Amino acid sequence: MKKIQTRVRRIERPIEHIIVHCSATPQGKDFGADDIDRWHRNKGLDLIGYHYVVRLDGTVERGRDLFKAGAHCNDQYRDYDSIGVCYIGGLDDSGEPCDTRTPEQRTALRALLQTLKGVWPLAKISGHRDWAPSRQGGCPCFDAQQEYADITGDVYMNR
Ligand SMILES: [Zn+2]
Repeated sequence: MKKIQTRVRRIERPIEHIIVHCSATPQGKDFGADDIDRWHRNKGLDLIGYHYVVRLDGTVERGRDLFKAGAHCNDQYRDYDSIGVCYIGGLDDSGEPCDTRTPEQRTALRALLQTLKGVWPLAKISGHRDWAPSRQGGCPCFDAQQEYADITGDVYMNR
């Protein structure tokens, strides 16, 4: 009888994409990873769907562990091979999609994306709406591919 393979190999998921979101909350309202964790659990998720949250003041908070697939972009199965980054905001006072990023959030988002690209230089930065046609104009309420096109990360690759 053939011996049964009992050794469990660690499965590390590939990181092909870094996907930017907004929390779809009104501009100026301060929320954090704890709040989103609660909302997502109320929606039936096991925990917060994003890996990082960027607060209004530019504070970057950790969401779920990076090695765990996200629950932020099921479109085209992107949850499995991506990192989900969410900034707080994305709606104007009348509840319409709007790029509400504070200067601190812009700085922190770029720094976070640069850091992630340094670790995964081949991962492509995009916005949620780039994967979900129904969200045109919405999440994350700006053109992430265009805005972050200059972040290459390949400086680490070429050493
Ligand atoms: Zn989104």
